[in-house]
This record gives sequence, structure tokens and C-alpha cells, in this order.
Amino acid sequence: MPEADGTFFTKSAWNSIRSSHHPPDWVSSLWFPGHIPKFSFTTWQAIQDRFPTKDRLTFLPINADKRCLLCNSVTESVNHLFFSCSYSAWIWRSILRKLSFRKNQRKSFGEEESWIQKKFKFKGQSGCLARILFTASVYYIWLERNCRLHDKIKTHKSIILDRICRVARSRVLFLKLNEDLNEVNNRIAQIWNLSLFHSQSESRFCQWVLPSQTELKINTDASISSDMVSLGGILRDNKGQIISLFSVAYDSVPIQEAELEAIIRSVQLARNRNVENLWIESDSLNVVQIIRKQWPCPWRKIPALEKLHRDLLSLNSWKISHIWREVALEDSSGTLYPRL
Ligand SMILES: [Zn+2]
Repeated sequence: MPEADGTFFTKSAWNSIRSSHHPPDWVSSLWFPGHIPKFSFTTWQAIQDRFPTKDRLTFLPINADKRCLLCNSVTESVNHLFFSCSYSAWIWRSILRKLSFRKNQRKSFGEEESWIQKKFKFKGQSGCLARILFTASVYYIWLERNCRLHDKIKTHKSIILDRICRVARSRVLFLKLNEDLNEVNNRIAQIWNLSLFHSQSESRFCQWVLPSQTELKINTDASISSDMVSLGGILRDNKGQIISLFSVAYDSVPIQEAELEAIIRSVQLARNRNVENLWIESDSLNVVQIIRKQWPCPWRKIPALEKLHRDLLSLNSWKISHIWREVALEDSSGTLYPRL
């Protein structure tokens, strides 16, 4: 199709022959920054009513058991499974409570989806978390239904809830999505222990604190670029003098594992230097919590974490703390301010 000036573009030809539509409203509930494709796809199937639920299987004999496999009481349908069924309603209610919402159950799955869409239309981490929780709930409830049908294995609803929450939180934990720091988002961040990112957020002055005379302090960090992972650590005394340091390339792993590995290697370095009292500091709050046993360790690192705890026990004393990440925000006097 030629343009006004006679030039020809494939795009204009394509636009002239295709019929265009506004994307349906539910698109933003399924495809958003940070979405998990298998969850979104499964939810898309549910929204389109493409699941082979028993109410749709017309080839089943008239006297076939069409009851829901989760509650064993009502005819199985998409609307029943999400989330009218007593099994899935409990999971969904528990999730909404964790998002600090208490509300009556909607009538249909479509209404539930529109509610999520309106309530969590913001694009930050908390909005992403809510939408991942929604799509993960559909995915894991449908998976549980299939396990019951094909493998005759039943899983308690509390285990499914735990699975959904873990996968959603670990997905959004390291996303840097610009957030409106309003009351709802802050409350969700507090409940889920998330660090919200806001590009216009205020800067806070923070200072590297010297260790005491009897201890040495090691600061660790890990960074991931497109093709490599780097780990590092700096061991300093009570005057801030560098005693030892390391910087190494590492395997391509998620940032959480890399931050943990940086601490493991830092402790090895400190032990090689016969350090007796060690203060470890990391800018990864999550990894600090893992070492304090306040948050589960990635399964691949469990043996290494156990060895780390044994190594730490061989020291006279040790402690670990979190420090804000420094970024290149510099004021007129040249002072660096970390961004929260
Ligand atoms: Zn049911």
C-alpha cells in the first residue's frame, strides 16, 4: 500500500488488510512486566473456558460422576474451581488476606479477574505480586485437580497456598518496578517483606560503620551483567584499613545465590586470615535473612549454607547485618547518597 508520497511500507500494507481490535481488558491481568508465562497461559485458558472441566465433557455417560475433584460436592466447572469451590476459595481468601483485603467472594471467575485488574492496576512490585498470585492460584489449583484425577494424589490446601506464595514472592523480590509509595503498597511490602523501588524516592544518608577493635568486618557483594556474574568481598579493620579482598567471576546463577556465594567465600577468606571475630555485611537483605534462618535457602545452596554455619561456629564470634546499596547519586559537595 503506497503512502501519500508514493513510498511503500510493509507495515502500512499489513495495517490495511488486518482487522484491528482493542485488546480485551483481561490482557493486563495476564501479561505484565514480571509475569510467569506458564501461569499466564493457564489463566488465559481458564478465562477462555478452555479447560476440559467435567461440565464440558459431553461425551461422558449421563450417569458419570461430574463432581468436583477438590470438594467432591458440586459439578466441576471453571466458575466453580476458581474460586467458588471450598478448597480453592480457602486458598484465594488466604491470599487476599495476605494482600490485606477482606471481601466477599465474587460470583464468577470473570468477576474475580476484573476485580484484580481494577484493584491492582498499578504496575509496581505489589501490583505484580497480586497478579502473579492470581495466575499462580489458577495454575496450582488446576494442577492439583489434575494430580487428583490422573495420579490419585491429594495435597492439602495449605501446602498449595504455601507453594503459590513462595513462587510469587521469589519472582517479585528482585524486580525493580517503579512503585507508587502509597499506603496500600507499603502495607503489602511490609507483609511480604519486599523492598519497594521508587525512582523518585528520597535518598537517605548512610555510613559505613567501623568494626570494633576486637573484630574485622567484611563487606560482600555480587553483580550480574548480561554475560557474567562477579563476586567480591573487602575485609577491613577498626581503622578502615583493607586487610584483604577478593573479586572473582562465578557461574551464571540467580542474584540471590550469587550474593550468598559472595558471603560464603568471604567467610573462607576471613578464616584463611585467622580472623576470630567477624562482622559480615551485605546489601542483600534477603540473603542476610537466609543466613539468620529467617527465610528459606535456595535448595541448590542448602549444603553450602550448612557448611557456612559450621565455619561460622568455628569462629569466636560472628554477626551479619544489612547495608543499603550504594548508587551513584552525588550531591554538590561530592557526598554519595544511597538510593533506597
Ligand atoms: Zn469443588
